[in-house]
Amino acid sequence: MALTGKRSWCELAAATGRTKRDEIVTPLVKNETVPLETLERTLPQCSPAVRGSLESVLHGEDLSFEQALQLATAEGAALQALIAVADYLRRETVGETVTYVVNRNINFTNVCFVGCSFCGFGRGPQAADAYSLTFDEVVRRAREAWDYGATEVCIQGGLPRDLDGFFYRDLLRAIKRALPSMHVHAFSPMEIDYGVLKTGLPLRDYLQMMKDEGLGSIPGTAAEILDDRIRGQLSPNKLPVARWVEIITTAHELGIPTTSTMMYGHVEEPADCVRHLLLLRSLQKRTAGFTEFVPLGFIHQNTRLYKHGGARPGAMRDEHLRVHALSRVLLHGAIRNIQVSWVKLGIEASLACLQAGANDFGGTLMEENISKAAGATFGEYVSPQEFRAHIRTIGGVPAERSTTYKIRWTFERPEDDPPSAPPPLRLARAETHPVYTEGAY
Ligand code: SF4
Repeated sequence: MALTGKRSWCELAAATGRTKRDEIVTPLVKNETVPLETLERTLPQCSPAVRGSLESVLHGEDLSFEQALQLATAEGAALQALIAVADYLRRETVGETVTYVVNRNINFTNVCFVGCSFCGFGRGPQAADAYSLTFDEVVRRAREAWDYGATEVCIQGGLPRDLDGFFYRDLLRAIKRALPSMHVHAFSPMEIDYGVLKTGLPLRDYLQMMKDEGLGSIPGTAAEILDDRIRGQLSPNKLPVARWVEIITTAHELGIPTTSTMMYGHVEEPADCVRHLLLLRSLQKRTAGFTEFVPLGFIHQNTRLYKHGGARPGAMRDEHLRVHALSRVLLHGAIRNIQVSWVKLGIEASLACLQAGANDFGGTLMEENISKAAGATFGEYVSPQEFRAHIRTIGGVPAERSTTYKIRWTFERPEDDPPSAPPPLRLARAETHPVYTEGAY
């Protein structure tokens, strides 16, 4: 059955050079593939409303909140059809390229007064496992990453009460002086807000100062769910939605790009996710400053929110697929890149989501403390070689990108890979590194 009003899926496939033997729908189970015809089989099984919404998306129309909400609860054939449409839109946007970035996470302290109920990372200053890294150690780690081929360091940490007003600026300055070409992707909107509070500078002046010091981009974290009622349950001390939006849009106006995120799988309802995504879409239409959107599945194990706050224990497989597909569908034409968080999903589910609308594998990370502290067990490091091998298993073309999605290298075939791959990275384990100091703040 052909789609009404536009081309059929087979015609769409032909237009993109694909054949009927191509597989365009996600393998929901490992090694199980769903052929192109699945969409034509599943669409008639969807309710007229879901089918109409998916057809509207394919016609390039924006969905209403009600239409988006129907997709946000899709199951069975409707979910398969949603995934197929998301995968089609991904291909239409970026082709078969699946990107990754060689980066290193550096979480410079776990001392934090904010007390988010979903966080397993933050500690009080007197906790036995509280730590704070010196500037020298942060720079040493950044240099180690640079020598390995990293183009980005992602710097975030807890919020110690007695942080020096210009701490973030001085940390940034130390890294950029040592490694002028390293892209510093750093300081969540919560940290920016804290820096503004501590320095007393106007937000715009503070951000301009950080840009002048070499801040390359800002992680769009601290978003969780952009709804003040939900935020009250997750973290009453965190910045409200209006302030998050103000910081992000001011950064964009100053030419500082940011990412965008959403944490799902806890106390939120599908409608909250839809409102979150539609808000991001409207912001992007205003500023065009988001480089990517990253759905972040809630890691529940070591969190107060799960133990005492009535949260769900994270998302199951179908919900991961649904959220990634919905993100592609609702952000299509606005935010180009949908990233999987392999540290939260694991590799297998990440690969499934990369066939459900996502197109970016994220970063090598090299070390990861925040998800691990909350209970994630998928490791801290994926090498570029591993990324390329994983991407090829789903028929993707691996490409290394910069933080802002400039393609650095495309590896069409395994023969294109670097002839002498760098040796596996041996990093000092964070918790045993001698420069950690207990409760330094
Ligand atoms: S999520 Fe960030 S701000 Fe919240 S408690 Fe954890 S470290 Fe602190």
